[in-house]
Amino acid sequence: MFNKILIANRGEIACRVIKTARRMGIATVAVYSDADREALHVRMADEAIHIGPAPARESYLLGDRILGAAQTTNAGAIHPGYGFLSENAGFAAACAEQGVVFIGPPTSAIEAMGSKSAAKRIMEEAGVPLVPGYHGDDQDPALLRGAADAMGYPVLLKATAGGGGKGMRQVWSEGEFDEALAAAKRESLASFGDDTMLVEKYLTKPRHVEFQVFCDNHGNGIYLAERDCSVQRRHQKVIEEAPAPGMTEALRTEMGDAAVKAAQAIDYQGAGTVEFLLDEDGSFYFMEMNTRLQVEHPVTEMITGQDLVEWQLLVANGSPLPLAQDQVRINGHAFEARVYAEDPDNDFLPATGTLGFLQPPDESSHVRVDTGVRQGDEISVYYDPMIAKLIVWDESRERALQRLASALAEYRIGGTVTNLDFLYNLATSRPFVEAELDTGFIEKHSELIFHDRHQDLERELPLAALALLLHKQQADGTRSCVDPFSPWQHNNAWRLNEPHAHRLTLHCHGEDHEVLVEQRGLDYIVAAAGRETRLRGELSGDTLHLDAEGHRQRGTLARTHDGYTLYLADGACHFQDVQPDTGEADAAGADAGLSAPMNGTIVALLAEVGASVEADAPLLVMEAMKMEHTIRAPAAGVVKAFYYQPGDLVDGGAELLDFQADEE
Ligand code: ADP
Repeated sequence: MFNKILIANRGEIACRVIKTARRMGIATVAVYSDADREALHVRMADEAIHIGPAPARESYLLGDRILGAAQTTNAGAIHPGYGFLSENAGFAAACAEQGVVFIGPPTSAIEAMGSKSAAKRIMEEAGVPLVPGYHGDDQDPALLRGAADAMGYPVLLKATAGGGGKGMRQVWSEGEFDEALAAAKRESLASFGDDTMLVEKYLTKPRHVEFQVFCDNHGNGIYLAERDCSVQRRHQKVIEEAPAPGMTEALRTEMGDAAVKAAQAIDYQGAGTVEFLLDEDGSFYFMEMNTRLQVEHPVTEMITGQDLVEWQLLVANGSPLPLAQDQVRINGHAFEARVYAEDPDNDFLPATGTLGFLQPPDESSHVRVDTGVRQGDEISVYYDPMIAKLIVWDESRERALQRLASALAEYRIGGTVTNLDFLYNLATSRPFVEAELDTGFIEKHSELIFHDRHQDLERELPLAALALLLHKQQADGTRSCVDPFSPWQHNNAWRLNEPHAHRLTLHCHGEDHEVLVEQRGLDYIVAAAGRETRLRGELSGDTLHLDAEGHRQRGTLARTHDGYTLYLADGACHFQDVQPDTGEADAAGADAGLSAPMNGTIVALLAEVGASVEADAPLLVMEAMKMEHTIRAPAAGVVKAFYYQPGDLVDGGAELLDFQADEE
């Protein structure tokens, strides 16, 4: 076995690999960029080598520098994690040349799966079922349209070099085809430097079901059951589970055998994932194969009791697979929720921030938290904004789902916007509980999953206001007296013979709200959001005890650089204390308009200077944190000038273009 391995990655996956290596007695080397000097993965590894500035292109994507780090530290093998260089055939080949083991499949297998269309041709020959479609080299637009017409609409255009849901367009009728093709090609060229397209039948209610496969170099190949990853936003996974609900033993065997056949068709070795679309009628189609460890591998580990990173190390070291197919057992059910710094109410816009408050649920045999950050760390603009993966296990789907809901409710993160409430609403929604899964789940059930802001406000604002008042009093020392309820102890806002009233302004859900809190003995009468609520409350440290007319609850009040977060049993409420004249909340609530929503890179300009455009017309595409954002016209008008060109870096808040709206 290797004495020492280098992990060519960062964040949670680097930490996760280090844990297994340590358990196996293998020393570890981390690599880090300027932005990651203090990162958890650097702390956890036995050694760490600095490889460059923060942008991935200048650090984590530099194969030579990473190989140099392996040489300096005498690491015998490199684990690439996922993303970055994990599916880079050139890097795998360079490792082989330098005599360093690449913990992954052979270069030829990565190459074979690198193009979606070439992969489909290989699978077709191997007899693996494919979605009907065209995946040839001839890219004549008329030929592509002819293929679409022949198979019937809707169809899906896909970039053959694509990934992460980019370069894909649905086309619902013949008339839309040309425009959609142009858009998909443009996006693909910008993202992958290649605009080759394939056309396939668009399935309207499929599930995404993928199989974990493993092959060694002794001719063994097996599958470790499947994962259902149907719940997606922008074609990216949000909650994954294993096994897939409703999977029968017969279908599992059929799909699993097809997956192993797919892997063996390219002489695969190591961990891989074969993704299928599973149609309502039980037919399934090969979509693609990922030649690396997947983000969602932990759900497979939880139900099989195996450590897949350990398996990767064994196979890379030349050992046979630890289990034969008939020894693989499925036990219970597991879920993984991806906790992101992002704003679900704003089209999942990635967010940044310092995690001033971070309290994950307690880990146990039922709850696992895979993360690469600690309290005080920053979610920066340079990398994927995932904060953690929350993984739960129990004997049945129902019980595992209950665990997921309570672990999400206990998860407390302050200092950035997160998708925790969204995940909680999703996990507890009736269709999810009843496993009515398909890839359109989120759009279809958006009313259930997204908050009704008005209802939120009515419930949260009075509690938040009381929490804020108690916090201010605690900070002033006005509540630290022997008799906390004696009026003589208060030195703010208390007047003899006058109601003991406090006026507060809270910035919450994007707006300022005036709240009046009146103290009457032990009670607080809170007038907020057009209603009066009678409350009692006590704050000790950051723990808040609330009593709303007999309904008692315990919460936590966290203060970070960007305001306060009140965590209660049914979710979190973020707010800021608006001080007269300081404008603290104004900055946070500033309208993005035609300015960059965050630091990023300009990808494409979509309008001509001087052109008249309709309201909502796309004007500019920028990329930040691996996601594209389209800046649209706020009204009908004329584009006077663009201040940046494709490839330029822009700071969050920078004016991007000069736009003149038409007169009414
Ligand atoms: P990427 O490599 O960009 O992630 P995939 O080919 O893996 O793209 O597809 C991503 C997602 O897009 C799938 O999980 C599925 O939800 C959807 N999808 C892909 N192909 C089809 C299709 N033919 N019909 C319907 N949905 C599809």
